[in-house]
Amino acid sequence: MNEQFNIADFADLQARLAHVRQPGVLAALQRDHCSTDDLAALLSPAAEPLLPRLAARSRDITRQRFGRTTQIYAPLYLSNYCVNRCAYCGFSAGNRIHRRKLTLDEAEAEAEILRSRGFQHILLVSGEAPAVLDVDYLEAIALRLRDRFAAVSIEVQPLEEDEYARLFTAGITAVAVYQETYDRRTYDRVHLAGKKCDYDYRLDTPARAAAAGMREIGIGALLGLSDWRAEGLAIGLHLAWLRKHFWQTAFTVSFPRLRPAAGEFEPLVKVNEKNLSQLIFALRIFDPDVGLILSTREEPRYRDGMLGLGPTRYSAGSCTAPGGYSHEDHDGEQFSVGDHRSVDEVCRVIRSRGFDPVCKDWDRTFQQAL
Ligand code: SF4
Repeated sequence: MNEQFNIADFADLQARLAHVRQPGVLAALQRDHCSTDDLAALLSPAAEPLLPRLAARSRDITRQRFGRTTQIYAPLYLSNYCVNRCAYCGFSAGNRIHRRKLTLDEAEAEAEILRSRGFQHILLVSGEAPAVLDVDYLEAIALRLRDRFAAVSIEVQPLEEDEYARLFTAGITAVAVYQETYDRRTYDRVHLAGKKCDYDYRLDTPARAAAAGMREIGIGALLGLSDWRAEGLAIGLHLAWLRKHFWQTAFTVSFPRLRPAAGEFEPLVKVNEKNLSQLIFALRIFDPDVGLILSTREEPRYRDGMLGLGPTRYSAGSCTAPGGYSHEDHDGEQFSVGDHRSVDEVCRVIRSRGFDPVCKDWDRTFQQAL
């Protein structure tokens, strides 16, 4: 496709947020269909005193669109080799960690462990090292897993459209690729070496995956790198652009906050739980149908408190090191998780709050019919 998404100067987004006053927030809370100006209002400092009203509106919309359900998934780390140097990541090429890539048999064994725990949706994750883990490998593991799981997603290096199309045929139905930060200057500051330094190539990746026919695309920003309000507005603009061009595709947004990792990178900005909540509520009100993901990066108290208020998908029982489900040793993990509970414990809490944990929202039968 010729048309590409572009983001205005980040400072312009910040200026849009700074000009909002409370009547603008109240007007946004009344609307059935929010514009990006409404999203700016909901993300602005002027909306902070109205956070309980944002929460109530977000809760009502979430219940209306998704019912009393919470989807559950687990990541399966295939490899922690990476050729990029991202200042904030434990897998960064500069970090001295134990590197490992699972063989296809080992990856299959890890997937079996997750399946035995009840998971029907898994997310295959790896560092970005195409010479170590390439499309052939991903295609082979997809072919092995596709009949055993309702949904297999990937969060790996950005690929070309024909490569995504090949993986879709092999059984991968969703792609997650986070911009990390939409702030170009900060992006350049934290991406020190490797192909990931190319901001625009990464920004175009969700569109390439959607054009290839992927059923669901996940976007997001890593919180702690730049102004979270402007990141939220940039996510909303990106989401609206993708919806306009790929109306048949489903979308999710993730809100990973920086966690301790090898390299001991300190967040460049603070994003507290109140900020994260405002971001989630604002995105839900702006786009009632978008899936919102809250991972095990967050602590149990916060995750439990957010049930039903906006997020629709939780990871559970996660390990972020390759082979981590088969071995107790979590050496070589990407970051340390905040919620260490088992999937059974997480599901118990979900049920105790009157929600149904849902381990699948897709079936391969649908894909075969496409
Ligand atoms: S964030 Fe991704 S690309 Fe960057 S170092 Fe970590 S695994 Fe590699």
